[in-house]
Amino acid sequence: MTMRDTDRALVQAATAVARLRCRSENHTVAAAARTTDGRVFTGVNVYHFTGGPCAEVVAVGAAATQGVTELETIVAVGDRGRGVIPPCGRCRQVLRDYFPTVRVIVGPMDALRVVHVAELLPETYVWADQQVDGPTGPVPTPRPAD
Ligand SMILES: [Zn+2]
Repeated sequence: MTMRDTDRALVQAATAVARLRCRSENHTVAAAARTTDGRVFTGVNVYHFTGGPCAEVVAVGAAATQGVTELETIVAVGDRGRGVIPPCGRCRQVLRDYFPTVRVIVGPMDALRVVHVAELLPETYVWADQQVDGPTGPVPTPRPAD
């Protein structure tokens, strides 16, 4: 998918947070997530040897703190000018289970593009699909047409 103006603005938001808040080894990546109605939530990773959360998960938590349960697009940006960073495997699974249709911004800064999370994790385990009595957690929604 091609980048929209709102996608570029989301990259700028994550970049700004990375510049402002990622100034130690504890916080090295910033994420920004947008809702369909245009609200933006940001977060930074919380590094810890026990497995601190990635920036994407912190942004999801920030959104949930405000009662937001639907995200349209998400992006992560590294500190020290590293640009957009694709989500790690764990985040791909979290995003896929929580927001089955979320768009993810990936690629080098001069060729950014948007993909659906399902494209980043094809043929994956889907938690909600495996519940015998139906989903009790994140509810899957059909993938929209591009
Ligand atoms: Zn991650």
